Amino acid sequence: MAKGIIIKTEEEIELLRKSDLLVSKTLSLMGEMLKPGISGKELDEKAEELIRDHGGVPSFKGYQGFPATLCISINEAVVHGIPNKMEIKDGDVVSIDCGVYMNGFHGDAAYTFAIGDVDERIMKLLRATNKSLYLGIEQAVAGNRVGDISYAIQYYTEKQLGYGVVRELVGHGVGRDLHEKPEVPNFGRRGRGPVLKEGMTIAIEPMINMGTKRVSVLEDGWTIVTRDRKPSAHYEHSVVIRKNKAELLSNHEIIEESIKNNANIKQL
Ligand code: MG
Ligand code: MG
Repeated sequence: MAKGIIIKTEEEIELLRKSDLLVSKTLSLMGEMLKPGISGKELDEKAEELIRDHGGVPSFKGYQGFPATLCISINEAVVHGIPNKMEIKDGDVVSIDCGVYMNGFHGDAAYTFAIGDVDERIMKLLRATNKSLYLGIEQAVAGNRVGDISYAIQYYTEKQLGYGVVRELVGHGVGRDLHEKPEVPNFGRRGRGPVLKEGMTIAIEPMINMGTKRVSVLEDGWTIVTRDRKPSAHYEHSVVIRKNKAELLSNHEIIEESIKNNANIKQL
């Protein structure tokens, strides 16, 4: 039987926070390592090492057959890119999604990094996608509905700025399973969808395209790319629903700290 939306206890939330902290530390390490010439495979190996050294297991490795620790999606790749030996180049935008399973709970977060001299139009896309994540999080309070999050993200990115909001992939509840109920789309209508309650834990993750919202799957069966091959951005936080303000479980500040100290990455 399908499970409904699961409310977590404070003890469970504490365990989720630990998994998400290890996710954030892993993404922060990526922020230290990223530079032109490095490959996704090198990043993936270090990420797996860090996660296992801290007692975690990569959530994505083996998930429905996914072969790696990280999803590394470059430029026109939206999500689910498989790390490979190709060198990352100056001017690339690299979205890294990471999941960690530890103490029975999954952490899940993502960040898009701008390598070197990234075109200003693409930087605008990154900034807007990142901002839309926080606009969504502002709506993630008890008593609101999932559609309030969805609408906030879509209104800003699509209606105001004219970007494409991916329809095929959505945010989700997160806990003992990597993907729980409810689905959290990045598009939708205010006042619709399940009511948010204190103790729900969800991953909010806008995937925003510079051009068309339409996407395709590459022949590897995993990598989602934009149909027009224009760039895409992806930022994700895991949060817990509280009364007045969502509480972040993942931590982007430590990622941004590592970016500040890495001259190869352009700050947002
Ligand atoms: Mg993720
Ligand atoms: Mg997710």
